[in-house]
Amino acid sequence: MKKCPFCAENIEDAAIKCKHCGEFLTPNHQQSSPPKKFTRSIKDRQFSGVCGGFAAYANLDVSLVRILTFLGILFTGVLPGLFAYIVIAMMVPEA
Ligand SMILES: [Zn+2]
Repeated sequence: MKKCPFCAENIEDAAIKCKHCGEFLTPNHQQSSPPKKFTRSIKDRQFSGVCGGFAAYANLDVSLVRILTFLGILFTGVLPGLFAYIVIAMMVPEA
């Protein structure tokens, strides 16, 4: 048994909703990891670490991010995409 943080009645350990006051309980709230920050990867870098950092941030494969970045640069006519990439590389802090 545990206590409801809202009404202090005893409730089941596995309860996700208090049967006394009807409040939803979020037991994993404190355990959840802080939101990831988008940083440039130091260990996973080819040029500036932006791809590696973004891959870690978005939980994607680094090579996939690199391919998409490369295609994105190509499709924007190289220079605008390359410029955006450089701007991102300058704005995003290193991990
Ligand atoms: Zn309650």
